[in-house]
Amino acid sequence: MRQYAAVTITTNQAAPSPVTVIRKEKTSRNSVSLSWQEPERPNGIILDYEIKYYEKEEQETSYTILRARGCNVSLNGLKPNTAYLLQIRARTAAGYGASSPSPSFQFETSPDSAFSISSESSQVVLIAISSAVAIILLTVLLYVLIGRFCCRSKSKHPDEKRLHFGNGHLRLPGIRTYVDPHTYEDPSQAVHEFAKELDASCIAIDKVVGAGEFGEVCSGRLKLPSKKEICVAIKTLKGGYTDKQRRDFLAEASIMGQFDHPNIIRLEGVVTRSKPVMIVTEYMENGSLDSFLRKHDAQFTGIQLVGMLRGIASGMKYLSDMGYVHRDLAARNILVNSNLVCKVSDFGLSRVLEDDPEAAYTTRGGKIPIRWTAPEAIAYRKFTSSSDAWSYGIVLWEVMSYGERPYWEMSNQDAVDEGYRLPPPMDCPATLYQLMLDCWQKEERNNRPKFEQIVSILDKLIRNPGSLKITANTTSRPANLLLDRSSSEVPAMGTVGDWMDGMRTLPCKEAFSGVSYSSCDTLAKTSTEDLKKVGVTIVGPQKKIVSSLKALDSHTKNGPVPV
Ligand code: AMP
Repeated sequence: MRQYAAVTITTNQAAPSPVTVIRKEKTSRNSVSLSWQEPERPNGIILDYEIKYYEKEEQETSYTILRARGCNVSLNGLKPNTAYLLQIRARTAAGYGASSPSPSFQFETSPDSAFSISSESSQVVLIAISSAVAIILLTVLLYVLIGRFCCRSKSKHPDEKRLHFGNGHLRLPGIRTYVDPHTYEDPSQAVHEFAKELDASCIAIDKVVGAGEFGEVCSGRLKLPSKKEICVAIKTLKGGYTDKQRRDFLAEASIMGQFDHPNIIRLEGVVTRSKPVMIVTEYMENGSLDSFLRKHDAQFTGIQLVGMLRGIASGMKYLSDMGYVHRDLAARNILVNSNLVCKVSDFGLSRVLEDDPEAAYTTRGGKIPIRWTAPEAIAYRKFTSSSDAWSYGIVLWEVMSYGERPYWEMSNQDAVDEGYRLPPPMDCPATLYQLMLDCWQKEERNNRPKFEQIVSILDKLIRNPGSLKITANTTSRPANLLLDRSSSEVPAMGTVGDWMDGMRTLPCKEAFSGVSYSSCDTLAKTSTEDLKKVGVTIVGPQKKIVSSLKALDSHTKNGPVPV
């Protein structure tokens, strides 16, 4: 009998094809109206279009992004007599299509019309314009002063406002920016501005799937009138809550409701007018990424892992473009759906850190998930998109090690300050380990890669999967394993001690010293208990340590590594 297997593979929905036909309808000194044709192959329902434009002279260094649901838009507030370049892309549930046209669509605003009026009437016009400008300036000044006053009186830490808004990004009118719900006098106003109120009768709860700080997380179904029933996750606020707890619970919805991206958990709505108070989001069948990876140890291809990482980076790029700093990016806060799509979740302000079981008190009193947090954020609460990039490096490490706990049971803070970094996970592609190290630059946080760059690095890897075969722990000249960028010396590696020194890996060297094992195989066969008896503490899963030692063993010329 011939043996065979039938394999059914379903590919993901394709992104929409580019928008190729754009027409200029009307131009004035400060505005232009455009229309365009729907992409030839939408490959799904078009959710909206993203219109990006910038002054031709500025070479894309500053640009404005608008979204439109239909196929036309008016761009206002433009400079007269100026050339602009523009690109449009469509978005479906599968994500964005390619931006087009290429080269970009060009249009010019009309020139300033010369005053062809009498000098008398021109004086009147001038007076009118000056008065209007004076009124606008006064309004802006008043607005800024009131804003400052409110920020001072509301925020306990004057820095805190900057943490969420001040991202070092140039923000222009037209780019949607995250609004901190705590700046609202009445936070329930923020919830109703950013989240849809759902009728509890539209929600059916099926079972409990997790536990949050404020109550249970359940799976269930949402059936809105004239819409298809969908699976949802329902977070509930348990009874006996205080006003502050209710506000903090709903703040997450006010934040989530401002985002709209395929790699950010989507908010369906909230129930605030009946009890229990609920937050309803899309359902992620595979739960949180850390436990999902631990459950499927070593079961994914490199491309699958990079695909997950790409999704997380893309979600983070969106958040940093919006001016939102996550502050608690970790695999436990990423959710995975049935298509292995990863989405960033767990939004909040200080609440996020209060909730997180990983958060520990720092010497300065703040509660921070130290293993995931950049040194400057631990030291003086400087949370930025660059500190999120550090955490992304840790998530990258967690993913490549299938949910290993960063730094295992060691305390990492001092080691990191001294320049020690996590070693490459087993079989980790060299490029990915290099990316981790780039994310973990301590002094020059601005040199850490931006999320846009991370997305593009990962895209290149996906397009060229062969590059994933060069692994960090099998390269013969481990220059990429050197963690201290200032050191150009590649140390000779004769022993495990040298290896650890060379890698400036965690200070676990002492654990191995004073014990004599003739080969990695002996070490592999020795139980952790027996090792303990002779004074060796295994600080990570033994099989992974042994495998790293074996990799080293096969690359040292002097035969087996003396341990
Ligand atoms: P959280 O309070 O957001 O940390 O959620 C607690 C746990 O509930 C998570 O670790 C997940 O296991 C589960 N959970 C939260 N949101 C969802 C969701 N949208 N889909 C599926 N499971 C979820």
